Amino acid sequence: MNNVKMYIDSEVVSKNINLFKLGKKALIVTGKTSAVKSGALGDVTNALKENNIEYIIFNEIEQNPTLKSCIKAGNIGKTCDFVIGIGGGSPLDAAKAIAVTMANPNIDEERFYKKEWINEPKEIILVGTTAGTGSEVTKVSVLTDSKHKKHSIHDERMYAKYAFGDPRYTMSLNKDFTVSTGIDAVCHATESYFSNKANDESRKHSINCIKTMYNDLLSLKEDKELSLKARTNLYNGSIEGGYAIDITGTTFGHNVGYYLTEEYHLSHGMACALFLEDVIDYQIANNPLYALSFFKNLNMTIAEFKELLGIIPRPDIKMTGKQIEEILPRWENNGSVKNTYGTMTTGDIREILIKNFN
Ligand code: NAP
Ligand code: FE
Repeated sequence: MNNVKMYIDSEVVSKNINLFKLGKKALIVTGKTSAVKSGALGDVTNALKENNIEYIIFNEIEQNPTLKSCIKAGNIGKTCDFVIGIGGGSPLDAAKAIAVTMANPNIDEERFYKKEWINEPKEIILVGTTAGTGSEVTKVSVLTDSKHKKHSIHDERMYAKYAFGDPRYTMSLNKDFTVSTGIDAVCHATESYFSNKANDESRKHSINCIKTMYNDLLSLKEDKELSLKARTNLYNGSIEGGYAIDITGTTFGHNVGYYLTEEYHLSHGMACALFLEDVIDYQIANNPLYALSFFKNLNMTIAEFKELLGIIPRPDIKMTGKQIEEILPRWENNGSVKNTYGTMTTGDIREILIKNFN
């Protein structure tokens, strides 16, 4: 059950210093720059100092984090009592995995992915600096293995105890990442709505996510800075998207997106967003009544929803028919394809790849 206590507010960390008392020593997990640029690292270290909690900083988390880095961090932090992830989805997902590797140092890749975790993961605090993945409130960690393949690991033991979001932290995010992380959240909400696991609660979060983000995402077509109000809307919406996928998981759009990130190094949000139109069009063609309920709940026409596609840049990726046939087995019996509302097949994925890249 999702028991994450999520706090969203201006100066949220300094207002909740007491909640950081989860032990005597913390491991802080971040990427190279975002924790400093956003101001979140300063606020967190201040909270730890106020509580006389020692800390170690591990700032080597890369975009699309590798399990290898998480095992390295786990060894460095094995004497720590809890972990604090600061950043976008990459450091937050890494922190969840590091909660496992700190408690089980030197665990190998196979035992990690099979979830043969002998000791309980350490407690987790997450501090978000992007408005996108909603990782703050999910039990999901997306990690890249030693063969450069992305895996999405779901486990209730990886829920954070506390998560903090201060929309001011997202003010330092550049335009490209604001777009790619924001549209990632819309993909979460849309894929979740069109998941075989969707229920009334997840659908409510999906609709809230898109309604909350829509106007400010569209405003990114213009070349102007987003206000704090706009950033707050994007952040709140992204968390709604997180709640939606925590119930349903994502579908084919994300899974095919993983392939584009692995092979063409596209950012996560961009890679998944390339299939947002296909996620919608597949449902309009195959499940028109259910698709209509989506637009009705959003109080939008299909054309209005599709205006969002205008903010997504299209990279010049070409795939030959032979290449598509070679990669297609990857989606046979694939959980995310099966999770797509209706009965999607590998043949449908073939058509989508041909339409987009051939
Ligand atoms: P990210 O990879 O965490 O960050 C993207 C870039 O933005 C990095 O260069 C980062 O810098 C920078 N950045 C982050 N916050 C910033 C800020 N406030 N100011 C300036 N720069 C900032 O991006 P993301 O899209 O949030 O996360 C993507 C990852 O999350 C992928 O691995 C994806 O698979 C995963 N994901 C997880 C879930 C889930 O439920 N757990 C859902 C969807 C996606 P640094 O390198 O310095 O950090
Ligand atoms: Fe995503």
